[in-house]
Amino acid sequence: MGSGLKSVDAHLADILSTVSLLVARDLELLDAQGCLLAEDLASPLVLPPFDNSSMDGYAVRSADLRDADPRTPVTLPVAGDIAAGSVTSDPVRPGTCVRIMTGAQLPAGADAVVPVEWTDGGLAKVTISRPPVAGQHIRRAGEEVAVGDIVLAAGTHLGPAQLGLLAAVGREKVRARPRPRVVVISTGSELVDVGGSLSQGQIFDSNSYTLTAAVREAGATAYRMGIVPDDARLLQTTLQDQLSRADMIITSGGVSVGAYDVVKEVLASIGTVRFERVAMQPGMPQGFGTLGEERVPIFGLPGNPVSAFVSFEVFVRPALRRMLGAEPITRPLVPATLTAPLRAPAGKRAFARARLAARDGDRVVTPVGGPGSHLVAGLAAANALVVVPEEVSELAAGETVRVMALERRQR
Ligand code: AMP
Ligand code: MG
Repeated sequence: MGSGLKSVDAHLADILSTVSLLVARDLELLDAQGCLLAEDLASPLVLPPFDNSSMDGYAVRSADLRDADPRTPVTLPVAGDIAAGSVTSDPVRPGTCVRIMTGAQLPAGADAVVPVEWTDGGLAKVTISRPPVAGQHIRRAGEEVAVGDIVLAAGTHLGPAQLGLLAAVGREKVRARPRPRVVVISTGSELVDVGGSLSQGQIFDSNSYTLTAAVREAGATAYRMGIVPDDARLLQTTLQDQLSRADMIITSGGVSVGAYDVVKEVLASIGTVRFERVAMQPGMPQGFGTLGEERVPIFGLPGNPVSAFVSFEVFVRPALRRMLGAEPITRPLVPATLTAPLRAPAGKRAFARARLAARDGDRVVTPVGGPGSHLVAGLAAANALVVVPEEVSELAAGETVRVMALERRQR
């Protein structure tokens, strides 16, 4: 690149070659929500498990009702009652019927269910005014799934319906790729947690909230550690303590060239972390490497809130998706028409905060905020990042740009 800066793509490639897919585990169903299935799921049951009624009504022999009609209704004695969950061994004899509820097992002898709406709803005897077709309102055993059918393929995203299917076939646990456990640490002696009060020169820690939420949105579990002041010993012990429960650690702050940039100081002395200048704006200083024998990936993100956020989107989220086994790794870039001119630094990939909207069937995108990496309100107003290539430094209104939509949830 000639500038002594590392390219965004080279940095991302280094990260992706370091992180690896988490090993699949047996998870409780609800712990597997949002995870990817790591087995082909063969059903141990047939579904539905037995012939049952799909309506509240009467289990009948259709031949008995061939002549039922509003003018010549047929009255049958009701030999019994079957609620969902109960069964009867008595077959339905010719000329009789049994009251049956939705989901109850069909008794022997019956070949149709007459819905209660076609009848007078009688309990001892019932008058039926329409002839049923044989087989109506019966859900047949095995009509959907046979024993051994693969009902979910390995790699399937486990959402509400998939977890329900696992329960429907009686599974308590499922083999899935677990969520990465991510420890989020803010560093800086100027930081105060919300709920505290600010003295001169202090600000509230916003990064740990942004990054924790971003981790969760990416499908991982976040442990928000809060604030560690710019104190090398404290940071080192915090990192050591957190290592055992972390699949990834994210710090923010302390990675530039300031006198108290302790993250850089501490991480440079332990693990394999390297601090590099990446050709991007915002987010130029980036720390990445591994800590401990387990080689836990650690990101040392820059402290400015916009830089931390963009760095997460560009580097951390793809790493989490790699660990989860999710595809695609990166968010898709969509074309959109720029509504206002945009300047960007030459030789760096810029990620400009913007609002993406639909207009007359096209996508239009309008920059918001400004280029400063401290502009948190501008970031909060944005729903997209315009990605300006390294070789472009000026864009005019009306040009087509590539945009990363931030609100689109990826599976
Ligand atoms: P640093 O990377 O530590 O030099 O921080 C760069 C800028 O980001 C400084 O203005 C910090 O005050 C600010 N900053 C660092 N960490 C946070 C945080 N957790 N929340 C909000 N602002 C922060
Ligand atoms: Mg700092």
